[in-house]
Amino acid sequence: MRIHEYQARALFAEAGLPVPNSKVAVSADEACEISEDVGKPVVVKAQVLAGGRGKAGGVILVENPAAAREAAEKILALNIGGYQVEKVLVAEASEIEREIYLGVIVDRDSKGILVMASSEGGVEIEEVARTNPSAIFKEYVQPSGVLEAHQGRRLGFRLGFDWNQVRQFEPIVSALVRLVVQIDASLAEINPLIVTPEGQLRAIDAKVNIDDSALYRRADITKLRNPEEETGPERRARESGISYVKLDGNIGCMVNGAGLAMALLDVIKLQGGDPANFLDVGGGADAAQVRTAMEIILADPGVDVVLVNIFGGITRCDEVARGVVEATANLDRQVPLVVRLVGTNESEGLAILRGAGISAHRGMVDAVNKAVARAAI
Ligand code: GDP
Ligand code: MN
Repeated sequence: MRIHEYQARALFAEAGLPVPNSKVAVSADEACEISEDVGKPVVVKAQVLAGGRGKAGGVILVENPAAAREAAEKILALNIGGYQVEKVLVAEASEIEREIYLGVIVDRDSKGILVMASSEGGVEIEEVARTNPSAIFKEYVQPSGVLEAHQGRRLGFRLGFDWNQVRQFEPIVSALVRLVVQIDASLAEINPLIVTPEGQLRAIDAKVNIDDSALYRRADITKLRNPEEETGPERRARESGISYVKLDGNIGCMVNGAGLAMALLDVIKLQGGDPANFLDVGGGADAAQVRTAMEIILADPGVDVVLVNIFGGITRCDEVARGVVEATANLDRQVPLVVRLVGTNESEGLAILRGAGISAHRGMVDAVNKAVARAAI
């Protein structure tokens, strides 16, 4: 789950990180008022669930409230990374001497929490990793989940900080690691963490991603969810316990089991087709669940054919077959349907499908070939 900068800033402030004063506004008038209250130069920033706002014209520094209003007007008219800007953050502006990158991620390679810092702040870290990987300094957090003070200090010295700055930096890194553990974040990033001309460290950008799988135990964090992060079908899938990822092809896929779903996508590609989605209906899929999944798949106008791939273990093929027949009988949109069914009660299942005039197969490649052929029409 992604959250807005203003939401991440609130988490940062609570964690004790140095973030400049700021407030969120939904209109240019409101941005102007906030700027008046601040009484100093402010930075007006687009709040969208996408990065690279600076480059897109979504970050404007201004000297006075009238200019803040104008900036907010401009930014509220922007669309950045596919998101219409609906809110702006008005933050007290900082003078910048240096920009540092600081990020904490859950790292698959080391199977732990990794802290990354770089002098190349303000730039996309992926870019630095590509062009100048030695400019990224790393510290691995111990399984205790606590960054040791000497690790924080070592990072600080590598960044070229003096003692005064290292003394500020060490608690910032520790707090960021603590926050990641506390809220089950998969990423927490300050880009840039700045040094002011007075030598003060400040977080002037804030990015936090939350591990979706941990949301069940983080009610307070779950409340931060932004509706624009998901499309209608994605939301429905999540609420129905269906794993759904939209892709760009035209063969809609319904599968029981994530591994089988991935195998199906591979086979479709191998046979020259293009999957429209990944979809795992979950174990024990019943008729209602099959119908929901079918509706989610067909909500994508790019789908020209639906391919169902079921391995019946605990799930019984006849039950699924009935579900498929029921689900497709009353749908608003009719598209060709190809079903691959194997496992428990498969002959009953195949008979039910064929009885309903649905193309039914035992072999996965047979079914895929059929679907690919239909999709090409
Ligand atoms: P992003 O482009 O979406 O990552 O947005 P950022 O919040 O990182 O802002 C982009 C850039 O705008 C930063 O790297 C800074 O160079 C600049 N910027 C943002 N806030 C301030 C500020 O308070 N003062 C100054 N001088 N520059 C700022
Ligand atoms: Mn940034």
